[in-house]
Amino acid sequence: RFKSGLQKTRQALNTDIRDLFKDEGRLVDDEFLGELFAKLIRTDMGAGPAEELRDDIAKRYRGRKVQLSDIIGSITEQTREMLRQDAAPLNLPGTPSVILVVGVNGSGKTTSIGKLSNHLVGQGKKVVLGAGDTFRAAAVEQLTIWSQRIGCDIVTGKPGADPASVAYQTVDKAIEIGADVAIIDTAGRLQTQSNLMQELDKIRRVVSKKIENAPHEVLLVLDATAGQNALSQASGFSDAAGCTGIVLAKLDGSARGGVILPIRRQFQLPVKFVGLGESIEDIAPFDADQFASALFS
Ligand code: GDP
Repeated sequence: RFKSGLQKTRQALNTDIRDLFKDEGRLVDDEFLGELFAKLIRTDMGAGPAEELRDDIAKRYRGRKVQLSDIIGSITEQTREMLRQDAAPLNLPGTPSVILVVGVNGSGKTTSIGKLSNHLVGQGKKVVLGAGDTFRAAAVEQLTIWSQRIGCDIVTGKPGADPASVAYQTVDKAIEIGADVAIIDTAGRLQTQSNLMQELDKIRRVVSKKIENAPHEVLLVLDATAGQNALSQASGFSDAAGCTGIVLAKLDGSARGGVILPIRRQFQLPVKFVGLGESIEDIAPFDADQFASALFS
């Protein structure tokens, strides 16, 4: 799954790094290290991680002649270490457990909710969706279509209805039908950020009144094609919304999958899922080993 999803990033990175090896091997000196750094930066991994990868190679190989495979091996190993995280399964402690999904419009939020719901239904869980983005008719429509495809219930409000009331009704519905998980969509209008944060706060309060410790997960959807911009999207949400994990969407559409490195570093949040395409199956729990290997081979 990661292999096909990371194809664009892998191609870009492989071509770039292979370019450094016009001859048989290369001497690892300042010139080589500078060129390597420039190539790494192009994956949007950011200066910090690129410096670390470069310095690791300097430490291992400075003054020696290396082959492409040495460099790739070293980068893969280091990337794996950087991405390593404790296992981060979804926290679904009770019935129902409540998942809020936040992120800017266009990030892939609705699609990710559809794919995640399908993933959970596939595990035998009963899911209810809540169309909490009541200001975007298209989001409600899209989520309704997903619910029909998956065969799960959905709670919608009137256009412009209070998102918190939709969240409340969604949890109510989940209790009523004995659902395992309620997944609630939220608005993502960054222009009115303070309103948005108040709105998220209200949803949290309403939901926690209904069920102890809810929401159990607040998943932040980030758009991998946005590269470094995904980082500023994330900072807008991470503190205020009390996020518990990240869904990195559209990894397949991006040659900048390296952005996962600064995301992990800056936000101290586990990456729980990655989006690997537009169809319903195209989501996978994140795995650092597989991810790092798929970057190159
Ligand atoms: P929202 O506005 O955040 O709810 O975003 P949508 O879920 O509507 O997604 C925006 C666009 O991105 C749609 O065209 C989706 O099909 C597409 N999209 C979402 N997730 C992925 C993904 O993992 N891979 C690809 N290739 N496209 C995606």
